[in-house]
Amino acid sequence: FGIYGIILMYYSFPIDPRFFADLRHLAIVVIASYLGWLPSLIAGVLIALGRLILFGMSASSAIAGAGMLMIGIICGMLSRMHWERLGKMLLMSILSMLVLLCIMWMNIPDHNKVYTVFTQHLIISMLATVVIYMLTEYINTSNQLFLKMKKNAETDYLTSLHNLRQFEQLLSERFLEAQHFSERLGVLVVDIDHFKKINDTYGHAAGDAVLQQLSKVLREHSRSFDEVSRNGGEEFSVLVPEATIDETAAIAERIRAAVADHIFVLVDGTKIQITVSIGAAVHPDTIRSKNAKELLQQADRELYRAKDSGRNRVCSAPEIHDLILS
Ligand code: GH3
Ligand code: MG
Ligand code: MG
Repeated sequence: FGIYGIILMYYSFPIDPRFFADLRHLAIVVIASYLGWLPSLIAGVLIALGRLILFGMSASSAIAGAGMLMIGIICGMLSRMHWERLGKMLLMSILSMLVLLCIMWMNIPDHNKVYTVFTQHLIISMLATVVIYMLTEYINTSNQLFLKMKKNAETDYLTSLHNLRQFEQLLSERFLEAQHFSERLGVLVVDIDHFKKINDTYGHAAGDAVLQQLSKVLREHSRSFDEVSRNGGEEFSVLVPEATIDETAAIAERIRAAVADHIFVLVDGTKIQITVSIGAAVHPDTIRSKNAKELLQQADRELYRAKDSGRNRVCSAPEIHDLILS
């Protein structure tokens, strides 16, 4: 915004054959009202320096530079007020114009002319403040909406974990990275045992509460850089980078035990316990594929093996042992 102010200063416009006006102070007004005192001060310093560098060192340049610094300080102080943004911007704009009036008063001997020019400059400045406010508010709201929609598109609404779309994206990205750097990538597929019974016995809302609490247990008992997702219904996944199949199975076992020990509290205060079954696979320990989907399918097959062999357990794909021919 400091550079923006310098550009505004450079491209001034005539309001009289001998007098030029510019809106450099509005760069400071905008940055102060949106980002606070420090950016306001920085913009003021930059514009002051720009004034000295572009128009040379002279008494009038020094006065104009000091004026911009003053505007930076004034707007910075006003930015801390708890006013509605447009009101704050208009007040900043008026006070900045008063500073500019002082500069004109000192630099221009014809004071009558200063008043006429100042009145026109003030009207232009106030109108520009309202237009800039409308534009920046529009951009700000659009940005906020975009970030919100991006988050919604990537996040599961119930648990705030990654959703299936984000999981697939992360899986393919991490898989390519693992291949490129010859690193490991593990996948855990986690499914609640007999979840239908919980819904049937306690109701759907109780089921939702269990899913939310389970998501916390999964996050707390995986490593900080593992990615936990809800892949749909009562099925979750954890991406486990840089761990052997034994280490991945150990993380899975830690999660399984933590879920089995956890007391889930339902909406009406009822306390229940649940168990999960987990399937684990690791590239390249248990599968050497060019395709991330095959890694996921292998973990899925292990999950079904865990379900078939009695639930509440972890099943890992067998490690590939290369045959060394001698
Ligand atoms: P298994 O041990 O074989 O996994 O049995 P299960 O009952 O967990 O498996 P099944 O796939 O038969 O049932 C899954 C249930 O999950 C059925 C469905 O009603 C429930 N479910 C899926 N999504 C949600 C949800 O968002 N909220 C709630 N409360 N229940 C859900
Ligand atoms: Mg299930
Ligand atoms: Mg299921």
